[in-house]
Amino acid sequence: MNSTVTIRELKRDKCNFVLRGVNLGFANSFRRTMMADIPTVAIDLVEFESNTTVLPDEFIAHRLGMIPLVSTNCDESMKYTRECDCVEGCSLCMIELRIDFRCDRPGTTMNITSNHLEIRPMPDNWGPGNTGEELAKRTPEFGIPVSKSKDFSGFPILIASLRKGQELKVRCYAKKGIAKDHAKWSPCTAVGFEYDPYNKLRHTSYWFETDKAAEWPLSPNAAEEDAPLDDEPFDYDAEPDRFYYNVETDGSLTAKEVVLKALADMRSRAATIVFNIDNPPTSDAMDISEAPMAQMPLPTRAANGSYASPSTGWGTSPNGSGSGTGGQGTGWASPNVTAAGGWAV
Ligand SMILES: [Zn+2]
Repeated sequence: MNSTVTIRELKRDKCNFVLRGVNLGFANSFRRTMMADIPTVAIDLVEFESNTTVLPDEFIAHRLGMIPLVSTNCDESMKYTRECDCVEGCSLCMIELRIDFRCDRPGTTMNITSNHLEIRPMPDNWGPGNTGEELAKRTPEFGIPVSKSKDFSGFPILIASLRKGQELKVRCYAKKGIAKDHAKWSPCTAVGFEYDPYNKLRHTSYWFETDKAAEWPLSPNAAEEDAPLDDEPFDYDAEPDRFYYNVETDGSLTAKEVVLKALADMRSRAATIVFNIDNPPTSDAMDISEAPMAQMPLPTRAANGSYASPSTGWGTSPNGSGSGTGGQGTGWASPNVTAAGGWAV
């Protein structure tokens, strides 16, 4: 059976779809890739010039790090700082944002929000060999807080409240990263995932007090499948074949971009494995950075709203599976005082 995707709802920051024709392992990998492997840009270093608010520096630095920034096409339009050959940050690998705010209004407080973050140009001091092609792939809004985007409808994020005489003056440096390093880089606020809503496969057991049906109501996804009969025998060979996703993003990327980038990322990793099997490394250290780019086409959308999977063979990839340092889950990074007196968020 060919794999298909049926879109049930698509908005800028939400995508609800059904995936069929894949196994459970692939479906779960897809979910995890969307949550943790799609790069975005987020504030990672904050230098305080003045902070006379009631909040300590670390507190404000952490809040700034969690503010979603517009990250459209981030995987191609920005370099990781660890891969950039500049010395102290450049326009290819960092974005500088500043807050310079003082409350002079007597008798009331004033709020500093994400809308007070202003982008300042970074120097183009790239290392030799860089052409700056990443800059040409950025959208005009790249790096600004999502709350300042023209598509945003809602309230900006509160950073601190100031009373008369208090001020906050900081320089923030945003970097590209993935959520395996820190949760602030995840484009997703939630990825709902379900299969087998009737629990025909008995992959789970429901704890209940008196009435299982009343205490565990069926999810809306149950309408997509046939209810089991009362005397239906258990099928030991059955496997899940429909997976229900509900992807919600924080606005840094659109839901559509998260889904398509995740598929491309998984394809690239698989292609790297194939490439290295076909071209075994001669030394003990396997260098995946020289594999050519995967050339498989992305899924194409049919008239009925479904996505058909490409039928061509595997391509190969240069960036492959080498993403992230991994291993830290979504835990909090400890703040570290830097030589410049700032806080690593
Ligand atoms: Zn750089």
